[in-house]
Amino acid sequence: MCYAIPGKVEKIENNTVTVDYFGEKRKAHNELSRIAIGDYIYAQGGFVVSKISPSEAQTILSVWKETFFQLQEVDLKLSRLQLNDKNTDKKLFGILDKASQSRELSRQELLSLLELKDKPKIELFFKTANFLRQKYHKNSCCVHGIIEISNYCCRGCQYCGISYHNKKLKRYRMAKDEILQAAKEAVEVYGFKSLVLQSGEDPGYSIEELTDIVKQIKEKFPALIFISFGEIGVEGLEKLYQAGARGLLMRFETSNPQLYQKVHPEMSLENRLLHLRKAYAMGYLILTGGLIGLPGQSSEDILNDLFLAKELRAEMYSFGPFIPHPATPFSNHKPVPAEEVIKVLALARIMGDNNAKILVTSALETLSREAAKNSLLAGANSLMLNVTPLSYRPFYSIYPDRAHQSEDISAQIESTVSLLRSLGRAPTDLEAV
Ligand code: SAM
Repeated sequence: MCYAIPGKVEKIENNTVTVDYFGEKRKAHNELSRIAIGDYIYAQGGFVVSKISPSEAQTILSVWKETFFQLQEVDLKLSRLQLNDKNTDKKLFGILDKASQSRELSRQELLSLLELKDKPKIELFFKTANFLRQKYHKNSCCVHGIIEISNYCCRGCQYCGISYHNKKLKRYRMAKDEILQAAKEAVEVYGFKSLVLQSGEDPGYSIEELTDIVKQIKEKFPALIFISFGEIGVEGLEKLYQAGARGLLMRFETSNPQLYQKVHPEMSLENRLLHLRKAYAMGYLILTGGLIGLPGQSSEDILNDLFLAKELRAEMYSFGPFIPHPATPFSNHKPVPAEEVIKVLALARIMGDNNAKILVTSALETLSREAAKNSLLAGANSLMLNVTPLSYRPFYSIYPDRAHQSEDISAQIESTVSLLRSLGRAPTDLEAV
């Protein structure tokens, strides 16, 4: 099973190609040489990732053809919105009706959605977000693979299980060959088209070593590469971009400066934001967001987080619950219910950039088995599977009992594909022209 559909190049204008997927046109940025009209390509995150032979493409497309339209129909059915002013609370009807027409909501209106308590009202809010997801993204859903290359970290984030607070954790740092092997397996065996390389903030790798790893993955295994190594400096970002990284996953965690200082006593929000802004200016796709349920966090804070993610031009919103880890200073706190996090995802869909993707995080899946499905039905359209070698996974212990911790890649793919199919979603992630 492959979770990217090949498209046929129809038009080339400078570095932009128009790609056809069963009659639907999408655009992608092309950095590969030797792409011609009529070629078949894979694209992810707005970038052409690789070219494939016409015979291979046609075999895959013939398998997808019927399914593609069937999936669209299922999705269309599931995302239909019937707002009825007779059965709905007048105020809520007014807000959701406005949202469904993509009209801007006031701060007060947005906050009122975040603070909904009544189940049927929350359900309607989620349905509206799902309607908008379908309107802007059709049934596409992107699936990334993440390789957690090291759990060494020199930072003291008060909530994080791989921070220096956790003295008992066995630390690991994957060697270059192991990382290349994991990338090879993810791309060549399992068909991933985009990979996130993540680690704690680990001075054990030099920028030159990271650059070399990214370069070699790019040369050997065609994939869109996101980096998530923490605050590596502007020069580090530049070098990694030159090596071929095209996305940065870095959450600002919280936009509230006082709260940021409380949970990261030795760090600065400005420096984090500087990385995000500079990275965007360099051309990186930005994946960012924050933690939901930090001690002392208010609904106002969360709304400000969403505005900040939008201001940072997030390609993908990554908001997930804070889950307490016993070996950290925040061990005594409780996580919020999954539904509170899904409200944030739904609000991101309503107020965020229309083109932005919204990620279902493993932390959210850890809170509830149903969370992935419920989030995909509330505006989310992106998933990340863990492709770290199984032997290392238990040690990337940012919070306890992580979802999919001991599931091998094929099991994760199988359950993801079956979930996506049941919801009528297809693995394409390019914007419609
Ligand atoms: N070092 C990189 C950085 O600074 O962005 C990436 C690694 S860091 C462990 C990845 C993410 O894990 C953080 O952005 C944080 O939001 C999340 N995280 C850490 N501890 C967590 C916890 N207890 N519950 C939920 N998420 C957590």
